[in-house]
Parts: sequence; structure tokens; C-alpha cells
Amino acid sequence: MNVAAKTYQKGEIPGVIAIKASACKGCDACKRHCPTGAITGSFGATHSVDVDSCLSCGQCLINCPFGAPYETSDTVDEVIARLKDRNTTVVGIIAPAVRVAIGEDFGLPAGSLVTGKLYGSMKKAGFEILDNNFAADLTIMEEGTEFIVRARHAVFGEKSEHGAEIGPLPQFTSCCPAWVRLVETKYPTLIPNLSSAKSPQQMAGTVAKTYGTKVWGKSAEKIYTVGIMPCTAKKLEASRPEFNNAYEYNKKNGRALTDKPYPDIDTVLTTRDLSRLFKKLKINLAAEKDADGGSLLADYTGAGTIFGNTGGVMEAALRTAYAVLTGEELKPLEFKPVRGLKGVKSASVKLKDTKYNKEVTVNVAVIHNIAENIKPVIDEVLSGRSPYHFIEVMNCPGGCINGGGQPIYGNGSSWLGAIRPLFAWK
Ligand code: SF4
Ligand code: SF4
Ligand code: SF4
Repeated sequence: MNVAAKTYQKGEIPGVIAIKASACKGCDACKRHCPTGAITGSFGATHSVDVDSCLSCGQCLINCPFGAPYETSDTVDEVIARLKDRNTTVVGIIAPAVRVAIGEDFGLPAGSLVTGKLYGSMKKAGFEILDNNFAADLTIMEEGTEFIVRARHAVFGEKSEHGAEIGPLPQFTSCCPAWVRLVETKYPTLIPNLSSAKSPQQMAGTVAKTYGTKVWGKSAEKIYTVGIMPCTAKKLEASRPEFNNAYEYNKKNGRALTDKPYPDIDTVLTTRDLSRLFKKLKINLAAEKDADGGSLLADYTGAGTIFGNTGGVMEAALRTAYAVLTGEELKPLEFKPVRGLKGVKSASVKLKDTKYNKEVTVNVAVIHNIAENIKPVIDEVLSGRSPYHFIEVMNCPGGCINGGGQPIYGNGSSWLGAIRPLFAWK
């Protein structure tokens, strides 16, 4: 790993993905999937990752036919140790895309929805559950409301209620940490365009260590939060030093028992990591009985669920914005123009802002697979010619469902991945 990394804050994991030199065949396959050209090395020679250009998205890892890229952060054993500690409440925060992918690691058909079995397996392992879909609902309320504030400011000159600065349009989604890192490192002038809403994972961690203390009857210091994500970049996101909002809140309210800030998310496991954890604990997810989440923190709406796919965040945000502005539900609720796998999807929504009694048109765009699709949209925004008011960006092709932390074999993430078992260099 490049220890001289310059684009990371103190405390952050300086690059979640590295390439094992002894396994790399120099075949160049990974370069085609890298959104930033972070992989160097000539054809036939050992390749390596430039951590300052890397987004930690893991697309090289799931698309390498030789299993050479690996995650530098592996905390499966640490989580098992916490699960065995009776003084610690371990909260598993499960992202939407995990429940439709983990089944195949236990012999179930690819795409099986196993929410009940996943809850059952996690409870058997000793986790309490906070469903990240619950937090996705929180994110979308924040992000949808923020969009309304920005749009009313731009169209009607409305000021912020508390005198806070209002960000420009277009508003970009901010729940994909690979995308956020791309903006921070390559397009810093667009940082104000990113939604100020934290990602569902980070909202979930804050909720677990504040409201969750009442749900589980433990102080925040005794709660250990584990993001369970389809995503390797979420490991980097959780390590960002500014994400200690639960500590700050608890301290302000006299509830912090220590002067040492604790992170909102203690660690992150990918879908693959969780499979390994279950296997180490001899839990066969496929044979587990269905269980429920056990608290309000595992309740969620369909809007939270669709976050796992490209277009899901935009559709959920539009539903919220439409309902707040017009006082009515969006009909039909499924907003089909932002669904599907087209590289850049766009749509216009006409709606009446009842507060101003005026009809407005909102132009939205949805981008996935940054490696192929982001450049023209960014160029338009940078040149001030963008027709869009709200843009969703997800790094991975198809969205988080095809994230860098998902099972590698047979999930359709890569035909190269599918032939990987044929090789001895696994
Ligand atoms: S795809 Fe894998 S083997 Fe091929 S160059 Fe990249 S890391 Fe090396
Ligand atoms: S993790 Fe993503 S950004 Fe980093 S080298 Fe791999 S494909 Fe490129
Ligand atoms: S699209 Fe999803 S899985 Fe991929 S980097 Fe972004 S948050 Fe992670």
C-alpha cells in the first residue's frame, strides 16, 4: 500500500483495495472497470493501485479473474470477538442489497430475497438489528426536504429559516462514498452541490448510539455498530473522523461516559465478510428460520428498499418532494423513467408548489457506472449548461446491488468473476 497517501484525513483507511502482487497476471481486466484510472502497470506486469486516485469501490476486485485485488480492512474476527462479549451489544446494520445477494453464498438461487433468514442468522450470531432501510427512509426525508429548500431558493428566492447557507442546484445525491470521494478529489468546486444529508449507514450509526440506547438498554459506549454493506467504499466512509455525531450529541446532553470520541459506525463488513462470519460460526443461512427485526429500527418503507438499485434514491426523493410540495402522493408511485440500466436516465416532473401556487418543472438525471457515464454530465454542470436540478450518482454498474462487496461468483457482476473458479489461483 502507498503509505504516502495525500488525499486522506488522519484516521481514514488510506485505500481499502490493494492488489496482491503474487496473484496478479497483468491481464488489464481491472483497468476497464476502474472509474478513475487508479490502476497502474503495463500489460503482463504486476499491477498496483494508486491509493490517492482510488475510490475504494472494489469494482476491480469483483472483476479480476485471478482474485488478485483484496480488501486491506478485514474485521470479521474482531466482530466475532465483540459478539462473544456479553457486555457489548453488537448492532448489525443491513443494507438493502445484502439481502438479495447473500443467499447465493449458501447455495440459494442468485437473487433470492432472504430478509427473514438473514435476520434469523444474525440473531443466532448475537446481533441486534437496525435495518439500513429504516435509515434510508431517514436519508430520503432529509435529502428530499433539502432539495425543496434549494429549489425554492433558486426559483422563488426563499431564504433559509435559520439563516443557514443554501446549496446550489443541481443537487447531487451523497449516499455513495465512492462518488463523494470522486467529487472531493477531482471536482472540489462541486462539493457545495452534494446533498448535506449523510448516507443511510452513517445515519443508522448515529441513531443506534442515541435512540438505540433506549431500545437496547445500553449506553452508547457499550454499543458496537457494524455496517453490513454490499460496498467496500463504506469501510472508508465509516473511518472518516467527522462521523462521530452520536458522541457529540451525547456529550452535549450529558450522556457521554467518556471524553474519547467514538465513531458512529465501529466497523463495516461486506456481504462477503458476513458470509465468512456465518460460516466461521457454523450458521447455515439457507437452513435458518425466518425471524423479524425485533424493534421499530427494523421497520421501513418501499422507498428505503429501492436504494439498492440505480434510480432508487431519486425515485424515493421525488416521492417525498412531490408529497411535500403538492400535498398529494406521486401517482403512480413507481417512477419508471429512472428505473432500468441505461447509463444516464433523465426525466422531467411537472408539479404544483402549493405554497407559491405555481407550477414548476423538475429535471432529474440518474447516473450509475461512473467509469463509463459520469464525464459528460459533470462537464455540463461545470460549464453551467446542465438542464438538471437533481442528479443521483452511484459508482457501481446497476447501483449497490452490484457493489464491490457482493458475492463474486454467479451474481452476474462479471463473467470474468464467473470463470474464476476454473483457475487455480483463487
Ligand atoms: S484483473 Fe487482476 S490479474 Fe488482471 S491485472 Fe488486474 S489485478 Fe492483475
Ligand atoms: S477500488 Fe475502484 S477506484 Fe480503486 S482501483 Fe479498484 S476499481 Fe479503481
Ligand atoms: S454504488 Fe453502492 S456499492 Fe457502489 S460504491 Fe456506491 S455505495 Fe458502494
